Amino acid sequence: MDRAVYLDYAASTPLDPRVKRVVSEALDTGGNPSSVHAPGRQARRAVEEARQGLADLLGVEASTVVFTSGATESNNLALSGALRAVLIRKPESRPEPLRVLTTPLEHPSVRETLQALSAVHDMEIDLLPTDGQGRVRAEAVTEMVTERTFLVSVMWVNNVLGTVQPVREIADRLAGLKASRGRQGLPLLFHCDAVQALRTEEVHPAESGVDLLSLSAHKIYGPRGVGALYVRREAPLHPLFSGGTQESSLRAGTENVAGIVGLGSAARLMIEERDRDRRHVRELEGILSAGLRERDLGYRLACPESPRVPGIAYLAGAEEGDVTALKLDMRGIAVSSGAACEAGTRKGSGALKTLDDRDLARRGGIRVSFGRFTDRQELERLLEALAGD
Ligand code: PMP
Repeated sequence: MDRAVYLDYAASTPLDPRVKRVVSEALDTGGNPSSVHAPGRQARRAVEEARQGLADLLGVEASTVVFTSGATESNNLALSGALRAVLIRKPESRPEPLRVLTTPLEHPSVRETLQALSAVHDMEIDLLPTDGQGRVRAEAVTEMVTERTFLVSVMWVNNVLGTVQPVREIADRLAGLKASRGRQGLPLLFHCDAVQALRTEEVHPAESGVDLLSLSAHKIYGPRGVGALYVRREAPLHPLFSGGTQESSLRAGTENVAGIVGLGSAARLMIEERDRDRRHVRELEGILSAGLRERDLGYRLACPESPRVPGIAYLAGAEEGDVTALKLDMRGIAVSSGAACEAGTRKGSGALKTLDDRDLARRGGIRVSFGRFTDRQELERLLEALAGD
């Protein structure tokens, strides 16, 4: 039996063995980071070193990094937290509903959270138009932000298509609108889900004009179940949980020390190795597209004209993506037909529905995603399997 081929890095990356080592060591050390005795101080030190590692990766101050249980929580904290902060600050004058501007491309942890908030609060959701090629139209931001918009949420890289969103351009457009509100006016926060960007892209929220930025360890070779939210200093945010004062009172609960140490270690490795990872993944992309062409397999890449990250390729063929993914799984090759969080609901996958390529949107394709530990033989195995060899 051939060894298994794992091409679903966008769902979860393999744990880097170097990260695994530091996580196991951290699991063996005791102490609550809030305790003042020696074991407590040691745990605190480990958490703060990890915070610095992640802050260095993001080019921000360590005090702006809040650890969470993953990007789902980070997104919930950002969106619910911003709404609650606004509601608490301005309890009286609410002539019109509050508004959030977002996109039809977002992950369910953003989309569903906003839906849930709008069901119970006087808040409406506006969707930016897309170009039919997996990208939002940044220029629409200027006219779509109303005086009641308090939050704009746009992902950095789409998790299904790999398309890079015009974050910088949106932030630039928001900067003028923010300035015109003044200090006493309604806040206008820019939230960005950068989960899929960090594997290959430079992500510097402070420099890019992003106020809140979500990320997850298990998409950058760290452990599952830990993530972080960057919170710009003075950005109004209310915690999700009531309890202790951990994480600057933004995330109550004893810290997941081993997970956090793992995230810090994954971030430090990313700083050193991302350039190499990117080159490696670009080379693999070349092998994949040349292989598809040479074998004339009838697969086409979704959104070929759009800026995309290397390492996430959405391929459409003649067959339904779900069927192809199942056949590949039977041959020991793991890909997905959409996002893992939307598994079984591909027909409802928001990003695919926005595409001009109606055929692709209807049938769905397969998402092939790879990274640091992928080798060319694995892609060759995929190509052989797609050819039915
Ligand atoms: N946002 C995006 C874009 C994602 O791809 C994912 C993971 N599927 C998440 C958020 C949720 O991350 P987590 O698994 O850490 O909750």
